[in-house]
Amino acid sequence: MKKTTGILFLILIIITAIGGYAYLNRAPAVRKSTVFAFDTVINLTVASEEAQQILDECEREIYRLDKLFNVHSPMSEISQLNLNGGISPFEVSDELYGIIERSIGYSRKTHGAFDITIKPLVDLWDIKNEKPSVPSDRCIKDNLEKVSYKNIVTGKNNEISFLSPDTRIDLGGVAKGYAADRLCDIIRSHPHSWALVDLGGNIYCTGDRSFSIGIQHPDKERGEYFCVTDVKNASVVTGGGYERGFAEDGKYYHHIISPYNGYPADSGLKSVTVTGSSSEMCDAYSTAVFVYGRELAEELCRTDEDVSFIIMDKNGKIEEIK
Ligand code: AMP
Ligand code: MG
Repeated sequence: MKKTTGILFLILIIITAIGGYAYLNRAPAVRKSTVFAFDTVINLTVASEEAQQILDECEREIYRLDKLFNVHSPMSEISQLNLNGGISPFEVSDELYGIIERSIGYSRKTHGAFDITIKPLVDLWDIKNEKPSVPSDRCIKDNLEKVSYKNIVTGKNNEISFLSPDTRIDLGGVAKGYAADRLCDIIRSHPHSWALVDLGGNIYCTGDRSFSIGIQHPDKERGEYFCVTDVKNASVVTGGGYERGFAEDGKYYHHIISPYNGYPADSGLKSVTVTGSSSEMCDAYSTAVFVYGRELAEELCRTDEDVSFIIMDKNGKIEEIK
């Protein structure tokens, strides 16, 4: 009898130990969420015991940032700055001040190819309009004169002013990248195994595994890739004219505008992918290299060790620049 009790007790201990081991080693819950903001579909995937809490926090952050960057809402901070910055110094939040200061830095590093004062030209081309059309050369010239990051003055106490009354800021070139960085901060503040944030081409992956990221072929159906890149704890941002635009008289006009001539950029590239630790920087650099051309990718790789590029030119030639 005693022997049977002993054996039963032993079996119970073994079952408890196996159960405990399985509990401690169980795969964390994987949860996904899809949100529409920044004019794009945002997909979040998180593997964590706190996945739902993380997703809820991320969604709140997405909506907060969407409001902050919204140049179409007259009450947004950026619209208030656009309205007042040309009249007198206007005090903005630490967050907006930081984004604008860093954006000026990206302009300096990219010979002005990236320029957040592009707004008058973005408005003129009005690519989101139901019936967009090519503006006249005269109008393009007039609005081009309004564009220069050198007209933004960042002063003390978070004050920003414009040297010209016509200066207007559009943060569309860094908004998704900045948001990806913030979402990643939220995820990293929680215990998690891995996570993937995808803001329509702006990707950030974090955690203990690497990810194979497919790069959209600019001439093919959505989901058809021309290359796959493996990344771990980094952002991958792809930009190109194929994403948004319209055709007129057999010519295609897209949404990335050259601050050099006021027309949709035509540097000979079709797609620019940037990998690095700051999604905001990758976002700005993808736009800048698309505007300026491949030489800028080489230049940026020399100064920023953290970034690398995969570019496709008009002839379909693919090149990796590290
Ligand atoms: P993306 O959606 O990342 O391709 O960013 C393009 C957006 O950036 C456009 O929709 C404009 O709002 C803005 N943009 C266009 N051209 C430029 C430029 N040369 N420099 C900075 N921002 C730009
Ligand atoms: Mg971009």
